[in-house]
Amino acid sequence: MGDRPGFDFTVGTRLPHAPGRTGVIRTPHGTIRTPAFVVVGTKATVKSLLPETVAGLGAQAVLANAYHLYLQPGSDLVDAHGGLGAFMNWPGPTFTDSGGFQVMSQGVGFKKVLAMDTAGVTASDVMARTGDRMATVDEDGVTFKSFLNGDLHRFTPEVSMRVQHELGADIMFAFDELTTLLDARAYQEASVERTHRWAERCLRAHGELTRARADRPDQALFGVVQGAQYEDLRRHACRGLASLEVDGRGFDGYGLGGALEKENLGTIVRWCAEELPEDRPRHLLGISEPDDLFAAVEAGADTFDCVNPSRVARNGAIYTADGRYNLPTAANRRAMGPLEEGCDCLTCRHYTRAYVHHLFKAKEMLGATLATIHNERFTVRLVDAIRASIEAGAFEAFRAEFLGRFYARR
Ligand SMILES: [Zn+2]
Repeated sequence: MGDRPGFDFTVGTRLPHAPGRTGVIRTPHGTIRTPAFVVVGTKATVKSLLPETVAGLGAQAVLANAYHLYLQPGSDLVDAHGGLGAFMNWPGPTFTDSGGFQVMSQGVGFKKVLAMDTAGVTASDVMARTGDRMATVDEDGVTFKSFLNGDLHRFTPEVSMRVQHELGADIMFAFDELTTLLDARAYQEASVERTHRWAERCLRAHGELTRARADRPDQALFGVVQGAQYEDLRRHACRGLASLEVDGRGFDGYGLGGALEKENLGTIVRWCAEELPEDRPRHLLGISEPDDLFAAVEAGADTFDCVNPSRVARNGAIYTADGRYNLPTAANRRAMGPLEEGCDCLTCRHYTRAYVHHLFKAKEMLGATLATIHNERFTVRLVDAIRASIEAGAFEAFRAEFLGRFYARR
């Protein structure tokens, strides 16, 4: 990186056949060895887990959401604590996403999964229905209703930057416009151009805020690449963001945003990796399924985040090397082994599957906590193992072995 004194990214081992690599991101709150899975703590908490537990399961960084924290409790209150890490007692690196995604999707029945399968999906499944859509986009920004009480709010690139500076995360994202795979090509083109103009405004606001708040730890800003499934739009967006500078400072890294179809995920990440500067990290928003992680790492993504491991855990879905199973089913009532044989997580070291099954059946809170610990550890450990396989020159062999076993029961 080099543009912000507190930040640095160094590339380690490269894959011989693809843009994937290992590396180290250095931030004012610690380092992140990449590829890395970033645990999601949307509202400044990883749901049901103490920060000590999050650290104990090997998570290197936590990502919170600017939109949620802006509405509740307010970014000024987080600022008064000295930023997100101090507020939530997480000493390590933090990310905030810009709020664009949540502002525009409004979280109404929308899963934060950008790798989506469009078969049988309509626009009303992914965006709030047109009639009562809670957000409207114009050239300057987005006006939206609070999901909490319906109050009207307005996000612009400048507001997003101010909010993210108050939240104080080590890595922030530029405010971008969300599109879906169902938006027409012409709309995608216009959106890429608007996102570029917003990116420039974000860089400018970021520079001003950095100068005005010089006593605060340095924050890095990632530009967000849109362009949906169109190769020319993605490459154009990447080149535009890569060349963008305000007062001699460009983006410190890049987020790969917007709609990605599962089958094209690796292809789209690779287009971007080929256009973006080698010496800046690339973050992919919203993936955690094992096949997606391998595809994204191979294609050149360095960090990822996803709510899925904890969200499905709260419903009793458990990840294992042999695939996912449903813990609350009767088959687990007397299962005396751990959630996953051989797992090193706190849950698997101390509790039986039958006990956690019991907690779910009895609707005890601890069930969600123990299942979340396991699923987050599973995902963190998988990405750590992918990193080790790259360093050992064994990425292809590890992928074949892991995915062959994980999806064997399909
Ligand atoms: Zn476990």
